[in-house]
Amino acid sequence: MSALLGVYERDLVLVSGKGARVFSSSGKSYLDLAAGIGVNGLGYGDKKVAAAIKKQAAALIHVSNLYHSEAGSALAERLASLAFPSRVFFCNSGSEANEAAIKFARRIGKPQGRFELIAFEHAFHGRTLGALSLTWTAKYREPFEPLVPGARFCALDLGAIEAALQPQTAAVFLEPVQGEGGVRAVSPEFLKGLRQLCTAKGALLVLDEVQCGLGRTGKLFAHQHAGITPDILTLAKPLGGGIPMGATLLREDLAGALHVGDHGSTFGGNPVAAAASMVVLDKLCSEGFLLDVAKRGAFFARGLKKLQRRFPQIKEVRGLGLMLGVELLGDAGLVVKALREKGVLATKAGDKVLRLLPPLVIKRAEIKEFLAALEACLQEGAGRDSSERQRDG
Ligand code: PMP
Repeated sequence: MSALLGVYERDLVLVSGKGARVFSSSGKSYLDLAAGIGVNGLGYGDKKVAAAIKKQAAALIHVSNLYHSEAGSALAERLASLAFPSRVFFCNSGSEANEAAIKFARRIGKPQGRFELIAFEHAFHGRTLGALSLTWTAKYREPFEPLVPGARFCALDLGAIEAALQPQTAAVFLEPVQGEGGVRAVSPEFLKGLRQLCTAKGALLVLDEVQCGLGRTGKLFAHQHAGITPDILTLAKPLGGGIPMGATLLREDLAGALHVGDHGSTFGGNPVAAAASMVVLDKLCSEGFLLDVAKRGAFFARGLKKLQRRFPQIKEVRGLGLMLGVELLGDAGLVVKALREKGVLATKAGDKVLRLLPPLVIKRAEIKEFLAALEACLQEGAGRDSSERQRDG
């Protein structure tokens, strides 16, 4: 029994890691295809991240946001220069980045009476009340209702969103690749169309790239596949190299609507987290890195599609870059369990999708090792639907 509140199902104790591998307290090694749910983009034990943390910690661990820190200011400038002309608000998680986005959209929309927030079916934007109001899965939302008023859902369809956009709509929230909702990438055409509709109808476009951003899809930001820019962009997970760090980027020309006291965070933009984030961005922007993520992602997807041709329990392989989903006829949880017995960690997205979010530094040989482990699990019958399994005894 643990003193931890039981909101997670867990048993494994992890003690160290190197590259794409983690080691448990019993000395077992695991190939990690979950990467801290997308946080450990650079893998485990990155020496430069650890050195930057050590150096910054020796100089200054925390200042309040009543003052500047060199690391925080430098990171804001870097992010804005990499994304689009913007002002950056720092926080500590994906949910908080989306809470900030909600407040910014409401603040900007207030003079025109715009307050409504639209998210899409299968969306996941976080667990805090505002972000939860924009999270599709009923079992996460319903026990906590009533949530934030004025939040609603729309089908992932341009006709549906066109009809949903109203004069009172403040913002539309979208993950360019939905993560928790089942690893679903929207098409570049959808993103372009949504951008046009939001502009035409005066609603802000908020892209939640907490999971799919920062190199995961083979571009620094997932929306760059469509050549559009959002009005607000939210980032977190891999940004701090494992240290909690979230960011909300707000289009520069809209930033004047936010005033002193409108929002805040005690820890947001912590210098140690900012110093680690700089190293992460350096690595993601280093020559050839993102192209190589895209190539290894394509290699991985080809391997999964080969398995799909051999194993009928694989319904679909989808995703972008190194953010991949394998939709099964049966329970993805049983595949996760079977993989773990073979020394592989993975996670699921919903009940039937095996979600693969390896460290971006995963090697081709490790991808092959994973494919062999998955093949063995499928051969043993994992992922079949339960009626089929029963029939086969
Ligand atoms: N948005 C997306 C797209 C996410 O995947 C997540 C986390 N899975 C969140 C927001 C919430 O992030 P956090 O858990 O850091 O609050």
